[in-house]
Amino acid sequence: MPGVDYKTVQSRVPMARALELLGFASRGVTGEQLRGPCPVHCSQSPRSRSFSVHLAREVCHCFKCGFAGNQIQLWAALNNMTVYDAAVDLCQRAGVEVPWIERW
Ligand SMILES: [Zn+2]
Repeated sequence: MPGVDYKTVQSRVPMARALELLGFASRGVTGEQLRGPCPVHCSQSPRSRSFSVHLAREVCHCFKCGFAGNQIQLWAALNNMTVYDAAVDLCQRAGVEVPWIERW
């Protein structure tokens, strides 16, 4: 099984694109940061701002459930997948080529 170049996945499917695919509804933007309801623990209120995303650093963090990670880890958590499967799925959903790497 070939490996996946996670760094390249992140550059091909930026955090903003992954959030768009998730249907994330931002409740506020401050510079490079977005706040909104957490898709991981499913915030009860659509007006929640517990979930924080840093677009430039491509990381997100939830102040309530403690989830922290990049867009691949977020995709894995939401779809109950391994990080490997999430990276492949994310590329396919975004319509970009999966950056396979051969393992030696
Ligand atoms: Zn959460």
